[in-house]
Amino acid sequence: MTQLPPLPLDLPRSNAELFARSCEVIPGGVNSSIRAFKAVGGTPYLVERAEGPYVFDVEGTRYIDLVQSYGAVILGHAHPAVTSALAAAAANGTSYGAPTPGELLLAEAISARVPSCERVRLMNSGTEATSTAVRLARGFTGRDRIVIFHGNFHGATDALLAAGGSGVATLGLPGTAGVPASAVASTMVVPYNVVPQLDDQVAAVFVEPVAANMGVVAPAPGFLEGLRAECDRVGALLVFDEVITGFRLGTGGAQGQYGVRPDLTTFGKVIGGGLPIGAVGGRRDIMETLSPLGKVFHAGTLAGNPLATAAGRAALGELTPEAYELLRGRAAQLSAVLTAACASAGLPASFPVVGTLVGMFFGPGAVPTNFDEAKTTDERLYAAFFHAMLAEGVALAPGAYEALFVGLGHTDDVIDAIGAAATRAAAVAMRG
Ligand SMILES: *Cc1c(COP(=O)(O)O)cnc(C)c1O
Repeated sequence: MTQLPPLPLDLPRSNAELFARSCEVIPGGVNSSIRAFKAVGGTPYLVERAEGPYVFDVEGTRYIDLVQSYGAVILGHAHPAVTSALAAAAANGTSYGAPTPGELLLAEAISARVPSCERVRLMNSGTEATSTAVRLARGFTGRDRIVIFHGNFHGATDALLAAGGSGVATLGLPGTAGVPASAVASTMVVPYNVVPQLDDQVAAVFVEPVAANMGVVAPAPGFLEGLRAECDRVGALLVFDEVITGFRLGTGGAQGQYGVRPDLTTFGKVIGGGLPIGAVGGRRDIMETLSPLGKVFHAGTLAGNPLATAAGRAALGELTPEAYELLRGRAAQLSAVLTAACASAGLPASFPVVGTLVGMFFGPGAVPTNFDEAKTTDERLYAAFFHAMLAEGVALAPGAYEALFVGLGHTDDVIDAIGAAATRAAAVAMRG
């Protein structure tokens, strides 16, 4: 039984009206930039509720949702396992400022499924996880330099918001206003899928083991193994940012799929069951460098929050090997129907699949292997397809570099409906 949230009865049920009002109090009307539709144009829909594969906006329009909170939701929206765990947890209070059995159980669940995570620290977002991992890697190694890959995304962490050049390594260029050059002076940006040569100044290499923020780009054969060997050669830590891939690609994340063991792993999204969460896990000796045992400070008023850990445990509990098998099948099916739909309209596009992740690339080029190639995607063509799909009742992410997320709610019928919508939308986008 769906319950409507307690919105005031006199609230106008109009996306345009409510978004305009949001813009009067929230910068750009949103609390995370991509939601503002700047990349595709137009006015965002405001979601009132969601269920399984669907979101419903304030006007009552239903969309098949391929955003799924950018991957945080994997069981489908409002899954009863999550909502009942949340209701029970909320009745016991929402935050205590003391240790809880719930955080113990979630940390154990993560550690049991991801063997490299001998110790796990919970926090509130993927961004907090990556910024903590930066501090921890530097504190543990006594080195400052961080290496990241062009086109990988690690959240809103100053040290990791460095601008990348193409081809050559670049050092110390801020990726956004407000990041001082000093914050990225020790951050080096190198091309994805090429193992960089490191030296003994490097504290850590941060990598998305499957890149899922420049479309979806698989690691080239030997890339992750090569990073492991090069980090070992110079005594640098290898950090897998599995905020998207963790518990989405499979039980053991990307490291389980590719058989490469990082020193540290950052998590977020799926492990919170749709509530705010982040985590850093890794080797015991490194993790115990965190306070209170060690010299690297970390703290958080809401870290290990009882609601987030309850939702996360409920989500992980549903993610059996069979569930991942199902998700892999759905991802392959989604890619197939979208590919066929675009081909039927003569719209050049590809939808690369890596396990349960589906990417998008618009244009005649080959499937990208790095960010320079990914950037050749035709953003205007994508914007046209995006809006045509929205008009057909299918919500894609409002940006050409996002992944498409399928969940357990995307049944065969739903995928078929996406295919039918895409066939009509591709024709509209081509006429565009
Ligand atoms: C989403 C994401 C983050 C940031 O997580 P937030 O919870 O949004 O702060 C970090 N790294 C990767 C790979 C992500 O996809």
